[in-house]
Amino acid sequence: MQIERRESSNYHRHMAQIDDIIALSSIRAELRKAWRESKPGHADRIEQGGFIVQDGGSLKVVRWPEGEGASIVVPAHPQCKLNGLDILASFHTHPNTGADYLQEPSETDRRAVRDDPDLKARFYEGELVVARPKVYLITMQGTVLELGEARDILQLT
Ligand SMILES: [Zn+2]
Repeated sequence: MQIERRESSNYHRHMAQIDDIIALSSIRAELRKAWRESKPGHADRIEQGGFIVQDGGSLKVVRWPEGEGASIVVPAHPQCKLNGLDILASFHTHPNTGADYLQEPSETDRRAVRDDPDLKARFYEGELVVARPKVYLITMQGTVLELGEARDILQLT
């Protein structure tokens, strides 16, 4: 599927909504890959994340590099762009599946999106949080929405 876009005077507008973005099989495959690479439930689990950018007529995922101490490093993204490409969404995983850990987006997660001035472009749809039970969306206002079951969205078998 192609994401339709049209150009306005100074900025690009596109018709993508988050549901359309996660309906793309290529994006689902990338989210599934990130989820698996975060080794959910394992002792050496590590959060994974990335940006979903618009590259010409298609969308692609650019993963965040792993930093020290099982952390991920969010690359600089001035004006909601990565190497000149519009960032339509971001995502990270919650691989700590223990019952005593919060699966849904944390207050820190919400604030990180809400308070990031470089995640305020019109084309930015929010940050996906992939957890074992569900996939959530943090909007740029910091609101959390449940998008659906992770099993369905990631097409886990
Ligand atoms: Zn998180």
